[in-house]
Amino acid sequence: MPTLLLTHPDCLLHDMGAGHPERPDRLRAIEDALAAPVFNRLKRERAPLAQLALIERLHPPGYVEAIRAAAPKQRLVWLDPDTAMSPGSWNAALRATGAVVYAVDQVMSGAARNAFCTVRPPGHHAESSRAMGFCLFNSVAIAALHARAAHSAERVAVVDFDVHHGNGTQDAFWSDKDLFYGSTHQMPLFPGTGALSETGAGNIFNAPLSPLDGSTRFREAFTTRILPALDNFAPDVLLISAGFDAHRDDPLAQIELTEDDFTWVTEKLIDVADKHAGGRVVSTLEGGYNLDALARSTAAHVLVLMQASS
Ligand SMILES: [Zn+2]
Repeated sequence: MPTLLLTHPDCLLHDMGAGHPERPDRLRAIEDALAAPVFNRLKRERAPLAQLALIERLHPPGYVEAIRAAAPKQRLVWLDPDTAMSPGSWNAALRATGAVVYAVDQVMSGAARNAFCTVRPPGHHAESSRAMGFCLFNSVAIAALHARAAHSAERVAVVDFDVHHGNGTQDAFWSDKDLFYGSTHQMPLFPGTGALSETGAGNIFNAPLSPLDGSTRFREAFTTRILPALDNFAPDVLLISAGFDAHRDDPLAQIELTEDDFTWVTEKLIDVADKHAGGRVVSTLEGGYNLDALARSTAAHVLVLMQASS
């Protein structure tokens, strides 16, 4: 079974203006890296548009309509100090969520072993009724709910190694014991949530890191906290919020990881997925703002997914 790679040109048309770190060139840099011959075995497909009914499993219809109505005909509309919509943003957001939902369909049906979604805008900061932190719809949380509603998955896990805490995903999962959220992230840092003491219904596992913690502490957080909890949870499918902004070259944070750390964590997560979930892993891009580091880190992550599916 192949590794599925999903993207769509519409994701390039969401543009929050010159100088914004979450920019279309991020996807171009990743696509350039994934053009190397070693990635020829990827099964490449275009992301479909998400059905609104699927988005509305998490976001109230009034919020979805407000986002649609906010999309400008020209220039930019700012939803918060960090998050804007351009004329292409609505379709980009539907493609981003559509990619992760479709990837869940393909992996749950056995058409693909695992999948990576090269999409933007990211999603893990989006709360049910609030766009924030470059995010409009919480694609990974929507896809988790879809895995339960449309497939046989009883327990769905999201592991988030983006350097920022996925407050939106934590919120969405907070009181549901059959959903797992595990996150490493820098604290203090945007959005300010993600303390060790935030445990939900015993299904939330935060592992905050301090600036300059680096590879050793990052791996410790996984081996002592996230991975044992994930193993104990025994997910039927594992979703990954793959942000690469904990890289040492990233301009937004100071956790100082390298590509090797992303290779390592991907291998460890796949081990748990192999044990409990038949290897079913759906990973989607969140952050990562140094183009070279983002491209190298994503390539390292996707290569591990491919090795697991060969
Ligand atoms: Zn981030």
